[in-house]
Amino acid sequence: MKETIYTQPALPYANDALAPAISAETIEYHYGKHEKAYIDNLNKMIEGTEYEDMALEDIIRKADGALFNNASQAWNHIFYFFTFAPNGAKEPTGELRKAIDLQFGSFEQFKKDFVDAGVKLFGSGWVWLCCDEDGKLVIVQKSNAGNPLTDGLIPLLTFDVWEHAYYIDYKNLRAKALEQLWDIVDWDVVSSRYEID
Ligand code: MN
Repeated sequence: MKETIYTQPALPYANDALAPAISAETIEYHYGKHEKAYIDNLNKMIEGTEYEDMALEDIIRKADGALFNNASQAWNHIFYFFTFAPNGAKEPTGELRKAIDLQFGSFEQFKKDFVDAGVKLFGSGWVWLCCDEDGKLVIVQKSNAGNPLTDGLIPLLTFDVWEHAYYIDYKNLRAKALEQLWDIVDWDVVSSRYEID
């Protein structure tokens, strides 16, 4: 029997802990079926290939086609689900807060711009807050499995705008679905990703 190379990480909260922003049923499908399938597919595709011993980030930077799609979707979903906590920090602090205030005008304006970018992304994809090597922040839209690692950017925060992320709870209301996520983003996690040497 084939050994699984990548193991789906367990969520650090119960399936119903993020409700009402994300329901237990959405977690059961989005984490339990969609994320799992991407990781299972990734493992099948890399077995016996040059990618087998490669770090997931390096697979994303090198692969294309179906392997890129599954590797990147695996990474994106793990990153996404580990951004949330039922009782996390509600606002950024420290250097990240300073950078957000400076570059977007205010935290409130940043949240508006971020959701707007997610709503305006046509079709399936991800909206990202990233920084470059100098710590400059940027909001990036990526279609389908896109990941800003391929642009040399450092991902800090992402919202999944695929319909499978919100259709059970919000039907077609993408803007509402994204706005509700601010209730569960743990800004301590996001701030910890913004560490500029
Ligand atoms: Mn998804």
